[in-house]
Formats: sequence, structure tokens, C-alpha cells
Amino acid sequence: MPPAGGHLAREGALLARGFLRALFVATALWLSACVPPDVLQPVPAPITAVVPPTPPPDATPAPVSGGAAALTPGLSPGVSPAQATATLAATARSWNDWDTYLTALLPEARPTADLLAGMTQYHLNVLLASDLTALTGEADIRYTNRETEPLDIVYLHLFPNLWDGGMTVSRALVAGQPVSPTYPSGDDVIGLPLAQPLRPGETVDLSLRFTTPVPQGGAGNYGELASQGGVLALAHFYPTVVVYDRGWHLETPSSQGDVIYHDASLYDVTFTAPDSLTVVATGATLDKTRGEPGTATWRLVGGPMRDFNIVASGHYEKSSVQVGDVAVNSYYLPADTGGGRQALEWAATALRTYQAAFGPYPYAELDVVGISTSAGGIEYPGMVAISLGLFGDWNSRAFFEAATVHEVAHQWWYNVVGNDQVNHPWLDESLAQYSTYLYYLSTYGEQGAKGFEDSLRARWERVNFAEKPIGLPVREYEGREYGAIVYGRGALFFLTLRDEIGEEKMAELLRRYYSEYAWQIASPEAFRTLAESVAGKDLGPLFEKWVYPR
Ligand SMILES: [Zn+2]
Repeated sequence: MPPAGGHLAREGALLARGFLRALFVATALWLSACVPPDVLQPVPAPITAVVPPTPPPDATPAPVSGGAAALTPGLSPGVSPAQATATLAATARSWNDWDTYLTALLPEARPTADLLAGMTQYHLNVLLASDLTALTGEADIRYTNRETEPLDIVYLHLFPNLWDGGMTVSRALVAGQPVSPTYPSGDDVIGLPLAQPLRPGETVDLSLRFTTPVPQGGAGNYGELASQGGVLALAHFYPTVVVYDRGWHLETPSSQGDVIYHDASLYDVTFTAPDSLTVVATGATLDKTRGEPGTATWRLVGGPMRDFNIVASGHYEKSSVQVGDVAVNSYYLPADTGGGRQALEWAATALRTYQAAFGPYPYAELDVVGISTSAGGIEYPGMVAISLGLFGDWNSRAFFEAATVHEVAHQWWYNVVGNDQVNHPWLDESLAQYSTYLYYLSTYGEQGAKGFEDSLRARWERVNFAEKPIGLPVREYEGREYGAIVYGRGALFFLTLRDEIGEEKMAELLRRYYSEYAWQIASPEAFRTLAESVAGKDLGPLFEKWVYPR
């Protein structure tokens, strides 16, 4: 694909003259996205120290969009989160309202009727407390048993409690009746017992009333649930159904890597918060209505998606560009206009590249948002969150670009084609890194691609080229191994696979993998079987050498 525009083309030419390669190698120790902590070595200053000064949530109003006051308006002064549940917005939602859920989806990405009918439906009604320190809400969830055996309980993640987040459930209903929840291990998973076994194909309605604190310092493996740096990042704020695959996946995720492993689901969300916030969410914003003075209620819908996330700020500025049917938006702080527009260009170019290489992006919108996170970037459905610390720092420019395009690649590998990110992170992370390589090849030519490939090798070198399998669960990589093996050696595996089966078959493999596993969960064996089918030969020795545990 040609570069996106003149500016990028000039930069591409400059970087292709060897600069890019040098920059990559120099920053290789630092380069990653959905960043495992080790790849941030040498450890940069805390994000708050490298973010250009932005008013903290309680700062004096500044002359920016919405102003700092936007982060402090009260819904009703003194209302506690518990009291605030009384003012949850009235909702008018119905189950199986496919057209509403699919508002954000482009027609060609629509799942089959069978697939759609079995998806979990989330109806969330959420209120942000006046002091912005907590969310309270109700999660009404319609769950269908898509397994082959009856279920006598349904488990849900309360992810904030992985980090002592203080998320609580004050009421749990199954089919409208109160139940006594169980907590199988700690309080990060809640079980709702069913009065009668739920047979395959049957549906049950669950309802939970919950409160989730929003810590100023951030919770999450990368501080992705936080009110920090003038931005609210609300990852993991609601209860999410645990995946059942020959048993409930109740294992505790590692303290590095992604914790999300979800089935593609459908969302209809009502979010009440200060009116002056710019609210960016996964999916589409159906409408915004003003309620009590200073507050508004957003109706946010979307699906299929692996997760739902809201990011908000009273400070955000926005730039947009249209790529075919997709509106690409970038949200950034006023001090970061240059970086915000640059991220928009990179994301748009990545979108074109991956659409051509893998198949159509599913949604009408792709949002790039700056948040305070210790990761370089984090992927969400239709949303790419990038660390605010990268926006204004020329020294981290190579990382900034690679992180942005890596996260865009996750729209294909993680969101549309799902996988177990806890136990098989290579399927999405290593493939997102290979996709990033394709972006550099397409945008900057052979030399740019070589620069990125060198950075992958330099990353692997950090563990002395240890031939540790790329196919292990996150928890089995110690320290820097996760970044070195899954993000470095893992991407080199895909390059080796391409060399083994040829460029054309590699391209065909990824196109078929994308279309055949859309909205489902792919396993390593599924990938290998498809690869062998496309290649027309046994790839066992290659997978033994690179992927499988020994
Ligand atoms: Zn990633």
C-alpha cells in the first residue's frame, strides 16, 4: 500500500534511508505494545512524569475544550455511589434487538443468524459518581448455553478485584430470583448458581448490581482503569461472563499481558456522567440526552465485540479521517495535537494495509485514544488506547508508531478472530507483531521492514535467543521472557512460516483464518490445521521447533 499522504511519504523516504533501522535497533529493548512490563526496560519515568503537564482532575479550569472543570462537575454534590444508584437513567431496551446492537457494524461483517442468536447480550446501566471516583450500575445479561452439556452455574469475572480493586456486587438475580453467589477463588470471579440445569441451547437472564471504584492511581496490569492525567479510562468496569470451553476458564490471569479472554458479545449500554465530558466508547453512540443539571446520558451500542470500554475526558480534542466506509478518529489532549494527528495517520495507514492483507475491518468507526497507562498501547474492539506519554516524545517516536499499528492489528487478531489470550497469547500478540512487520513493508518498503525485523531479533536477543516455545501461557514466561519470546521470537516464527510456505500462501492463510474464524475463538491446533491445509504439507517440525511446549 502506498503511504497515506505527503507528510508520511516524506517521512517514509527519510526513515527508509537507514534511519528507521537504526532507530528500531536503538529502541528495540523498549519496543512493544500491550506492553509486558519488561519491555519498558530501561524503565521510563512514570507515565505521569513524561506526560506533558495536564490539569489533574481537580485542577483549576483551563481554557481547553470542556476545561478542567469538565472533570470535576458534580452530578449532585455529596451523592455517594450507593445513593447514586437511585438516579440511574430509565432505559428502554429489549433483548434480541439485533439491529440496535449492530448499529456500529458494517453489513459485510454481520455474523450468521445462528452465531448471532447464541451470543451473550449485555444491557448495562451505569452512573459515574459526581466525584468521578466510582461507577455504580446494573448489568442485565442474557446468556445462552452454547455448549454440549448442561450448566448448573454461570461464572463472571470481576476483573478489578484482581488488583484489590474493591468491586462489589450488592445484588444478584437469576431469572429474576435472588441467589447467593459463590466466589471460587478470591473475589475476582463470582458464580451464580442456577435453580435448574441450563441445557444446551437454553437461555437464562442474569442481573447484578455492582459498584466499581475508579482509582486515581490506576488498577489493572497496566493501569487501564484509572482517573489520571485528565482522562478517565474505564476498562473492566462491569461483570463479564467467563468463557466455557470444556469447563469454565477460572484460572487467574498473569500480572503481565492481557487479562481479557471473552466470547464475542452484544452490548446496549446507558452511561450517565457529567455533560461536559467527551465520551469515547467501543461501538457506536446512539444518542446523548441531557438529564439533571450538568449531567447527560449516553446510549452506547455495539457488537459483536470481545469487550466494552469507555474512555472520557473534558480535555479531548479530536481529528478524523475517512478510510472507505470507516471513520477513523483520534482523541488527544490539547498539548498533544501533533502526536494525535500523527497517530491518526498511522492508524489510517494501518487500517488500509490490514484491510488489503486480511479482509474488511468490521465497524464503521475506529477510535485512537490517549490514556494514562504503563503499556505502550492496549487494544479494545474498535478502539486503540495509546499511552499519553508517547504523544509528545520524539525519542519514543518509533515505539509510538509501532504501538499504534500493532494495536490496530488486534482488531483482526483478538477482536474478530478471538483466542485465549491468557493461555495462547502468541495467537494474537505474535500475529499482531507480524502484522506490524507487514505495515512497515507496505509503508516503507524492504528497508523499513528490515528495520522492524531487526528490532524483533534484538528483542529475542534479550534472552540470548533462548529457544523457549512461543506457545506457552503468559504465566509461564518469567520477567523479560514474555516480551522477548512472544513479541520477538513469536513474530519471527510467522516470518519463518512465510518463508516455509511462500508469500502467496501465507497471505491466503491469514485471509482464510480471518474469514473462517470471524467472531469465534481459534485454537493453536485450528491455526496449524488451516496452515497445513493451505500449504498442502505437514508443518509439524516447524511447529515443534517454535511453538509447542517441550
Ligand atoms: Zn498486543
